[in-house]
Amino acid sequence: MRVMAAGLRRLTGAILTSGGSAEAEADLVADHLVQANLAGHDSHGVGMVPAYVRHLRAGLVVPNTRAKLVKDDGPLLMFDGGRGYGRCVAGDAMAAAIARCRETGVVAVTLANAHHIGRVGVYGELASGAGLVSLHFVNVTDHRALVAPFRGSDARFSTNPVCIALPGTDRHPPLLLDMATSAIAMGKVRVARNEGKPAPAGVLIDPAGQPTRDPGVMYREPQGALLPFGGHKGYALAVVTELLAAALSGGPTIQPGNARLGGIINNMFAVLLDPARLAGVDWLRRELDGFLDYVKASPPADPAAPVLVPGDPERIARDERLRAGIVVDATTWEEILQAGDAVGFPRAQAEALIA
Ligand code: NAD
Repeated sequence: MRVMAAGLRRLTGAILTSGGSAEAEADLVADHLVQANLAGHDSHGVGMVPAYVRHLRAGLVVPNTRAKLVKDDGPLLMFDGGRGYGRCVAGDAMAAAIARCRETGVVAVTLANAHHIGRVGVYGELASGAGLVSLHFVNVTDHRALVAPFRGSDARFSTNPVCIALPGTDRHPPLLLDMATSAIAMGKVRVARNEGKPAPAGVLIDPAGQPTRDPGVMYREPQGALLPFGGHKGYALAVVTELLAAALSGGPTIQPGNARLGGIINNMFAVLLDPARLAGVDWLRRELDGFLDYVKASPPADPAAPVLVPGDPERIARDERLRAGIVVDATTWEEILQAGDAVGFPRAQAEALIA
């Protein structure tokens, strides 16, 4: 089915409110999920609602939690998310880091023990929207491992996303690298399974460590695994991301000495920089314009597929989906309705809300 963003936002907000969130929190998290759908990342969109509700009922996400400042030491800020909704506690941490960066020119900020922070790009967008550059390293734990190490045959860590954002110019929108370090995000395996489609080649292995395109291997015992992107290089990036995100923040890595309660915990390490305090904004803009124009002028190998830069695919998806609506497959839709039922939000009302 095809649903407009506003309807999905209303429905998601209503389910989260029924789950105990204050209205402002429900609206923020609902908008965050729908923005992920609009950006083309259904993996991090409203399809996460069933998992959020499962975690809610198990006490693994705590509504109406704000990030707690653990340490404030000049350009260093440490926060604990207390299993609050990730969008809210990471938003708190980013707001404080952006304000501090205006004074100090550079900030390293950590956030431990947040529930799922979702599409990491949104935190990069907060920084670039404030004229800052930011780098984000995030690990994922509290559930079983999903990604196999290079040369390994079973999962030992998760999809550990990395995001790097730069502000835009008069001619170019902000640049946004935002990616899982696995070959594809786990949510994309869920989407393939729900849509009954094979996963892309080269991204999954079965429990024997052999290549497979069956997304079902991630949902059966014994479980298969995702592969890192880019062979040994993606693997190496995933390893340092795990450690930057957790070992500096006081949050857990996925090693078995730490509890795994079956929810989702994200820890984040981020660095924010004010370009005005380095080579200056004029130089940054000059080089962004010159370099991006040069790169994008490369003649496309396929005339139907022009050269893009990071952030372009999400903008193109957003324009298209705002106009034409968001496709929600039947399995995901049914799971969302069941999640609503589980927190006392009846499906008849759910269907009315998206009409
Ligand atoms: P992806 O592979 O679709 O895109 C990765 C990056 O490549 C993006 O910055 C995109 O703009 C860029 N890109 C894509 N095609 C391009 C092209 N043709 N030219 C230039 N650049 C291009 O993203 P993904 O790895 O599937 O990640 C999806 C989302 O999942 C991200 O938002 C990420 O933050 C999120 N995620 C979150 C968690 C979590 O635990 N919170 C874990 C993993 C992933």
